[in-house]
Amino acid sequence: MEILVAWHKEYRDISFTPPSLKDRWTGSRRVFYDRFLPLLQSMLPLRIVEVRPIQEDVLLLAHDEKYVSFVREVSRIGVGLLDYGDTPAFPGVYEKALLAVSGTFMLADFLRERGGIGFNPQGGFHHARRSSAGGFCVFNDIAIAARHLSRNGVQRIAIVDIDAHHGDGTQEILYRDAILKISSHGYGYGFYPGTGWIDELGEGEGQCRNINLPMPFPSGDDVFRLVLAFIDEILERYHPDFIIVQAGGDAYKGDPLVGLRLTDNSYYAFSLMLSRYASKGIPILMTGGGGYQPEVVARLWALMLACVSGKCIKELGPIDRETVSEPGIVKAMQSRIEHLRKKTAECL
Ligand SMILES: [Zn+2]
Repeated sequence: MEILVAWHKEYRDISFTPPSLKDRWTGSRRVFYDRFLPLLQSMLPLRIVEVRPIQEDVLLLAHDEKYVSFVREVSRIGVGLLDYGDTPAFPGVYEKALLAVSGTFMLADFLRERGGIGFNPQGGFHHARRSSAGGFCVFNDIAIAARHLSRNGVQRIAIVDIDAHHGDGTQEILYRDAILKISSHGYGYGFYPGTGWIDELGEGEGQCRNINLPMPFPSGDDVFRLVLAFIDEILERYHPDFIIVQAGGDAYKGDPLVGLRLTDNSYYAFSLMLSRYASKGIPILMTGGGGYQPEVVARLWALMLACVSGKCIKELGPIDRETVSEPGIVKAMQSRIEHLRKKTAECL
């Protein structure tokens, strides 16, 4: 199964984080490209897609015109903030954000026509909302790609977001769309962005198409295994014909921003689940998302890509032992899933 990786030379430097996190963000992309991509290329049918900037009006699939103009303007001025403090403006931020979206958008079109697996390391900007930036995200490439696919005849699109943070922007933009959105994330007092509870189930055509799996801190692999079984159950019922993944690696143990305790085992199990869908011919479009341990995150992406394509590479992992959570945490997750199972049984 062919794997397409979107790349542009500027992808080494694109980061919408504050300066203190820039090296961590770009580091994951650089390590992936310099170290893991050659390994994948030597073992798998992998092709690099040269990203070209797409038409700007594509941004309007997910964002309002006023916001797009605002980003264009601050990009020209080159100072200030794009939101309330997380996402700084800098000269050229508009063009860079458009280039990041372009990778995901191009892959969506390729995969729609030819199937296979795609990966945009500079994608997964799930905190960008319809009319605001947020959490190091400027334009929501996931929502843009999903709307584009939907308008081009793809019927049953599923978005699966396993970044440690709730995909609040994706949820907000697509809340009323008949696109399935599943987000698993850490959830606790003061943790960004604070949304993503189990009762946010979608509205209108999106009713029952928005599923949040909030994990208590500090959940480990055993909790994620429960989450994963439920994601699989929902996907089985939904019969997706295109899956978009936000493959953030910040739920991994030791992440400096998060505090969950997943290991290789969770990402490995997640990929094996996706590989079952891929082997049925369902295109899988993966995006990079967050993750602030460059060496770990770059390796996780490589591990996932290989496994989703049905050819896991032993050197990439899993190399960790499974993490175990306190019984109270496991129980809390079980009851959240049970609640969701009951709710969705009526409507999905
Ligand atoms: Zn995150």
